[in-house]
Amino acid sequence: MENCIFCKIIKGDIPSKKVYEDEEMMIIHDVAPKAKLHYLCLPKTHFALLKEMDDTKAAIVARCLQKVSKLEKDLGLEDGYRVIINQGENGGQTVHHLHIHLLGGEPLGDF
Ligand code: 5GP
Ligand code: ZN
Repeated sequence: MENCIFCKIIKGDIPSKKVYEDEEMMIIHDVAPKAKLHYLCLPKTHFALLKEMDDTKAAIVARCLQKVSKLEKDLGLEDGYRVIINQGENGGQTVHHLHIHLLGGEPLGDF
């Protein structure tokens, strides 16, 4: 997608602090961290909303979560973390490329 910030990051056209990459996902540091550790897991396929998932996209999102769980220690999230996927206007989604927020590195308290 031409004007998508995250597609540009995935292509390498916008720099990012990358901590993991494979053929279907990338994990980067959020540019404006809202916790001591704040990562974004980006599926490389562009789509905005969970409701757009077909079986292929759903499998990619599932593998993103599985990979995150395997990387907990490497990411410094072994003491626990919060997973957030903002959806649409009321959800506060500002980048319309589905992404998984990973927040941790400190106790986050409740909502
Ligand atoms: P949303 O509000 O859509 O759920 O989350 C978008 C996130 O992307 C925000 O936490 C914001 O800080 C982050 N973000 C926006 N632009 C960039 C960027 O250019 N690089 C990185 N690493 N994060 C970004
Ligand atoms: Zn995109």
